[in-house]
Amino acid sequence: MSAIFEPSATARDRVVRHPGHGESFTEHMISMEWTEGEGWSEGRITPLQNLSLHPGVIGLHYGQVAYEGLKAHRRADASMGVWRPYDHALRFQRSCRRLAMPELPVETFVAAVDQLINADEGSLSGDPAHSIYVRPIMFGTDTSLMLRPSRTYRFLVMAFVAGGFFGEYVESVSVYASHDYSRAFPGGTGDVKVAANYAPSFLAQREAEAAGCQQVLWLDAVERRYLEEMGGMNIFLVRGQGMQAQVVTPKLTGTLLPGVTRNTILILAERLGYQAVEERISLDQWRTECDSGLMSEAFACGTAAVVTPISRVVDRGNAWTIGNGKPGPVTLALRTALTDLHHGLAPDPDGWLHSAAGH
Ligand SMILES: *Cc1c(COP(=O)(O)O)cnc(C)c1O
Repeated sequence: MSAIFEPSATARDRVVRHPGHGESFTEHMISMEWTEGEGWSEGRITPLQNLSLHPGVIGLHYGQVAYEGLKAHRRADASMGVWRPYDHALRFQRSCRRLAMPELPVETFVAAVDQLINADEGSLSGDPAHSIYVRPIMFGTDTSLMLRPSRTYRFLVMAFVAGGFFGEYVESVSVYASHDYSRAFPGGTGDVKVAANYAPSFLAQREAEAAGCQQVLWLDAVERRYLEEMGGMNIFLVRGQGMQAQVVTPKLTGTLLPGVTRNTILILAERLGYQAVEERISLDQWRTECDSGLMSEAFACGTAAVVTPISRVVDRGNAWTIGNGKPGPVTLALRTALTDLHHGLAPDPDGWLHSAAGH
């Protein structure tokens, strides 16, 4: 584990005082509008403030809303590094396209994120476990209850200060396989980041919590057998031990979100000498491979969750522990490799870390 994640007394105090994830907003926001014919307006930066909207806007009623989530970290030299913003910008374009919304140019997206980071980086303490989580969002603003795409849109960027998603340290989560609900289905919107994907998962999340779990594990909607992902994170399993280990994740079937972190982990796994595998794997097979000892680690990953070990699975009446229930060595090696890159502490041959002040 890298030293920057060792708990210090002050960091521990801060956990107690730190507001919930997503509530500690920074001071500013960026706004832009799109209209047919005119295209995108200039971006404006203002204090974070309430919106004034007609109650009949399309985005509110019909869910024409797409968003992104990306992070900026403070590097050792105190400059701000934004993690893979071009990849987030491209995914945002795909999400908007899926909802018949205009696409924001990639350079505009990245410049808006940089401008907000530059304005609000003072909100971030020197604690390397903290980061700025940036939330770009676009929604239809036509005042019309006709069932059709909006002809005007608003793009906003806001941000909040984030600690570790599940607390500051490497804490494990337990997962609950949902057999009654589906997150996504073939031809739907599971492979894009649109607001309409999330509210329908809340009831399953409540069920998971009632079963003593922190997260829902979504299965494929057709057979309810194959692992897909978690509510806002992709899932990885580790097969085998040591340098022979395979780092396994479900294939992108069109019903799971292609995480930027997922993609990073697949590349880092190979770089660390493991074998990265994308494979369709059923819940039953996972259980069998855990029982036989072949699989002894699993983890969730995402911008917010970073790399979070999975310690336990609940599948209807059955429950099993992954390995010895503690974070495994492959999980921790990948987590360290990723967080070192986030903080500019490791070689970055792909140029994933972008300088917010580079304009
Ligand atoms: C955002 C998200 C992820 C993680 O994607 P990252 O790009 O790694 O943050 C995974 N699954 C879902 C459903 C998500 O919304």
